[in-house]
Amino acid sequence: MILGKYIIKYKLDSNNILLINTLSGAIDIVDSSFFVTLEKKLKALTKKEINDNKEYQTLLERGYLYSNKEEEENEKNKIVKIIETTMKKNEYLTVAICPTLGCNFNCVYCYQKDIKTKSYFTLEQINLIMSTLIEELKIMRGKKKVKIDLFGGEPLLSPFYEQIKLILEKSASRGYEITIITNGYEVDKFLELILSYKEIISGIQITLDGLEEIHNRRRILPASPRGEKDNRGTFKKIVDNIDLLSKNKIPVTVRTNIDMENINRLPEYADFIINRWGDKRKQLTFGLAPVTDYKNLLPDDGNIQPESELVRKIFTLYDRYPNLKKFNLDLFRILSHIVNVFEFDSKREVLPRYYFCQATGMEYYILSPDNHIYCCLEAIDNEKYSVGKLFPDFYLDEEKLNRWHRRNIFELEQCSTCKYGPLCGGGCSLQFFEKGCKISCVESKKILFEYLNFRKKEIVNKFLNCAKSLNTKSQNYRPVGHACTCDACTGVAGTGGLPTNR
Ligand code: SF4
Ligand code: SF4
Repeated sequence: MILGKYIIKYKLDSNNILLINTLSGAIDIVDSSFFVTLEKKLKALTKKEINDNKEYQTLLERGYLYSNKEEEENEKNKIVKIIETTMKKNEYLTVAICPTLGCNFNCVYCYQKDIKTKSYFTLEQINLIMSTLIEELKIMRGKKKVKIDLFGGEPLLSPFYEQIKLILEKSASRGYEITIITNGYEVDKFLELILSYKEIISGIQITLDGLEEIHNRRRILPASPRGEKDNRGTFKKIVDNIDLLSKNKIPVTVRTNIDMENINRLPEYADFIINRWGDKRKQLTFGLAPVTDYKNLLPDDGNIQPESELVRKIFTLYDRYPNLKKFNLDLFRILSHIVNVFEFDSKREVLPRYYFCQATGMEYYILSPDNHIYCCLEAIDNEKYSVGKLFPDFYLDEEKLNRWHRRNIFELEQCSTCKYGPLCGGGCSLQFFEKGCKISCVESKKILFEYLNFRKKEIVNKFLNCAKSLNTKSQNYRPVGHACTCDACTGVAGTGGLPTNR
């Protein structure tokens, strides 16, 4: 027998080892001495011995053990098939429409700083997009339904009110779902319109970067100087607008971009959120997103640090400030599955991360007013990355599109042999292309181990207490995951991973 190549081992303490099967998503804790013995006799282990031993049997079923490399490869191929079928079954085409590339803010970390021409769609162009182009695209890509992301620049700007109105009007008549990604500053001016189309708006994402003083240093109006005395701060208006939306029962995701400038003040910010919106659990969700600089545009002022550094900071604070659990960490991509199991008691089944972001993995098309179609939001306004054109003749360039769509962890040479691959997804594609198709490895191991180093005690306490009450004779094998059915597990167990069918 062999141990699968997608297995990560981590020593939790002298008695326990954490196993993460990144391919199936299974996570388990095994007794150290049991596991060391198993590894020693692994090569000679026969199927019969496995069948006679409950622990070995469970490890086999959960995808940790294989008879040989071929069996493991078959298993991987089966899982790839599940992913691809799931992707094909997705009925949705997602189209991001940027009514304009202009913006009323000048955020310090904006990745669109390099966009010189703040072009916009005319009403006539929006009419064409909404009446024919999206439907054509839907047919071309064999999809049945459409989701629209309103993006930019900033989409909710008064000069483009009529364009937004037309998008909402046409979406309502065609049954498209809308998500609005906005800085939140002019939401009040669009409130009436938003309320009239409430039934097709699935959510609005607004960015708030922390408490007033910090937010106002980062998310600023163009004319305002950067500094604490800034009297043109955007915080108050955005917070009032979040109130307006939540009062009207519009679902809002509040995104907080974090780097070294605001991370230490997260606990106070979490308290502010609980005090102000603690009773709005249904309408408001909160998420943290690391500030990145994939295009190398930002000054080297020390604020942008590797993700592992942010993870270290967050989890230094985590125990002392339970309110931090208010934030979901899904945008810390490498950790998202592990954190959801250990911190949020998620039981959802996860597919391996086949790709890093929507640019490569989804039917995601960005319609930009520079007359190009893109896959990646940060590639907007860079014709080199255009995958099609809008006017006068609408087309998609399949070859260019495939550069993005065919990029997945099992296709990339370096990533296909990486055991962290199914957590990571192969890193940012734009960075990959910018660097002449070289992988910019995202330090998955460092990020994961940084998290585990901080949380190992809690993991042992929380999950072994539960596993001890398992109705099993085994003292060696202690499953964390939905294999555990004891009472203590209710609401506690994590994912058991995909079924391996073996
Ligand atoms: S980018 Fe690095 S960590 Fe991620 S899958 Fe590729 S080799 Fe592994
Ligand atoms: S490829 Fe994905 S992660 Fe990279 S810049 Fe584009 S959208 Fe962001």
